[in-house]
Amino acid sequence: MADVQMADAETFAFQADINQLLSLIINTFYSNKEIFLRELISNSSDALDKIRFESLTDKSKLDAQPELFIRIVPDKVNKTLSIIDSGIGMTKADLVNNLGTIARSGTKEFMEALQAGADVSMIGQFGVGFYSAYLVAERVIVTTKHNDDEQYIWESQAGGSFTVTRDVDGEQLGRGTKITLFLKEDQLEYLEERKIKDLVKKHSEFISYPIYLWTEKTTEKEISDDEDDEPKKEEEGAIEEIDEGKETKSKKKKIKEVSHEWELINKQKPIWLRKPEEITKEEYAAFYKSLTNDWEEHLAVKHFSVEGQLEFKAILFAPKRAPFDLFDTRKKMNNIKLYVRRVFIMDNCEELIPEYLGFVKGVVDSEDLPLNISREMLQQNKILKVIRKNLVKKCIEMFNEIAENKEDYNMFYEAFSKNLKLGINEDSQNRAKFAALLRYHSTKSGDELTSLKDYVTRMKEGQKDIYYITGESKKAVENSPFLERLKQKGYEVLYMVDAIDEYAIGQLKEYDDKKLVSATKEGLKLDDDSEEEKQKKEEKKKSFENLCKIINDILGDKVERVVVSDRIVDSPCCLVTGEYGWTANMERIMKAQALRDNSMGGYMSSKKTMEINPDHGIMEELRKRAEADKNDKSVKDLVLLLFETALLTSGFSLEEPNTFAARIHRMLKLGLSIDEEETGGEDADMPALEEDGGEESKMEEVD
Ligand code: ADP
Repeated sequence: MADVQMADAETFAFQADINQLLSLIINTFYSNKEIFLRELISNSSDALDKIRFESLTDKSKLDAQPELFIRIVPDKVNKTLSIIDSGIGMTKADLVNNLGTIARSGTKEFMEALQAGADVSMIGQFGVGFYSAYLVAERVIVTTKHNDDEQYIWESQAGGSFTVTRDVDGEQLGRGTKITLFLKEDQLEYLEERKIKDLVKKHSEFISYPIYLWTEKTTEKEISDDEDDEPKKEEEGAIEEIDEGKETKSKKKKIKEVSHEWELINKQKPIWLRKPEEITKEEYAAFYKSLTNDWEEHLAVKHFSVEGQLEFKAILFAPKRAPFDLFDTRKKMNNIKLYVRRVFIMDNCEELIPEYLGFVKGVVDSEDLPLNISREMLQQNKILKVIRKNLVKKCIEMFNEIAENKEDYNMFYEAFSKNLKLGINEDSQNRAKFAALLRYHSTKSGDELTSLKDYVTRMKEGQKDIYYITGESKKAVENSPFLERLKQKGYEVLYMVDAIDEYAIGQLKEYDDKKLVSATKEGLKLDDDSEEEKQKKEEKKKSFENLCKIINDILGDKVERVVVSDRIVDSPCCLVTGEYGWTANMERIMKAQALRDNSMGGYMSSKKTMEINPDHGIMEELRKRAEADKNDKSVKDLVLLLFETALLTSGFSLEEPNTFAARIHRMLKLGLSIDEEETGGEDADMPALEEDGGEESKMEEVD
């Protein structure tokens, strides 16, 4: 038989990354080799899921092999271990593509992870679990039959290539896949029944198809001596003589009979059908791992059932870490498996949970959905809508439970805060609940994070609003001029330094009936002064009105308005943006989005208002000069320089950094009393300094 096949064997080279992965698996020492069985069983289970799903709408797909199973056959004589499933099987093209010529995105990542010290057991997460067969086998044969193709044999000893051959004469599978591992001499323990049973119990307990092991049973049987000459009934020399019973000394003889049978080795009923109080943390963890391929335990679990008009059971898990491709937009994440009355329906049912909760893993088992539901039907299905609503609610409950433990919540928040913020953006109904899960650093939180709820408890008497500042990083906002007055007044300000905060806060607007007010936007009113103080301020404001107008004239359309500020204490001025427009931070974020349509920029980009500090020496001096001589050139220079500096301290970027630098250089020269003419004067025609000479003394005073 082999000779005939070899004649039409086609040889293929492994794709380079896969080849490298195979050498790594074969040549590196990993003690944790046993995981190969879990990976192969998991592949079988996936293949069974696929054919079951297809059969829901077309029963005839099961005709070639109606039973759905996984079988394990150890063969001590040939030193092979076979894993057989009646799953969907592979066509010839599938074989060539899936097992060797097309590398998964995870191939490289997995190798990098391995080299960085990751455990080989993580292989399943990276989508290359099949190759773990080579941890224990020197040669692997995959025989497979798909409904749409003939039976084929894939074979490889690694080493750069594999062959694919049409299987004409071999035992026909009907439908499914048989993986035969030719075990390495030092891996023969995997032929032991005990070992296989333990492994299945340990790693594959929650597979929802029956797993049968081909077992050997030895039974003792008494036969009388005269029967002894009868032809042996049992297979190959299975009958063995044993000692005759001493006392009886009868003519009877005991013999051992060896028989084989399929033994079901995963008998647990699905874990979600059991009572939560009877399930241990370890059992949940084992289920979580089998469900997700995660090598770490879950962070939290929510196991519940809904009864009444509609019935379903579900288990949801929050992982400890974000997967390496959490926000990979090419890949829609969804990790909820849908079952209908114990029958697996599909893996990533998008209608079951919103995308922003795509990191939550688990199962849902519905009593009400029809078994033959198709993806198209799911979209308008009312039952699913109700299930989805419940899942979101339960997720939020689970997150709140995590929040009861600070350390856990920090871990969770680090990994998934972006998802919570997306929740605020997208789910208006649950917005307030997601808001309660937010945590921020603030002017008063130190190294810890604070919740909005805790912020509210710390609000000062008379404080009506919740203040926040957005920016690139904690460092960048901590010393922002916008915080000066707020800090002085003892108002706490939240640091929102995640790009997505801008969007989330834009939607949230308020918490606990308190307005969320940006420290960098217009409309910040801090009026808790006494009447007398107010009066004084009013007067001061008036006395600066003229300067505001002059500055506005100089800056032209660079700014919308110039006003006297209520929010700065130490800085001479700052630039705030309109209450409903973009902040400086948002402008930065939008500029960074390479594919953004430029048309938005026009009306959304920040309309800046310059706020000046009437108590600042520079402003006082400017006012004096401007009043003395409206056309004083130094006033213009200073105003432009102040504006550009304010752009930077307020979080904007400079449109023309060179002009700004030139201005600073001129200031330096003035400060160092270097004559412009002598140094070549290449700066002489810088836009803001049209007229030179005679300005030095005035500029110096400003320092
Ligand atoms: P993963 O299973 O994570 O996708 P693997 O390397 O384990 O990655 O398997 C690669 C592909 O080979 C699978 O996606 C599947 O298409 C195919 N495959 C593997 N084992 C089987 C099987 N028992 N039955 C059908 N297809 C299989």
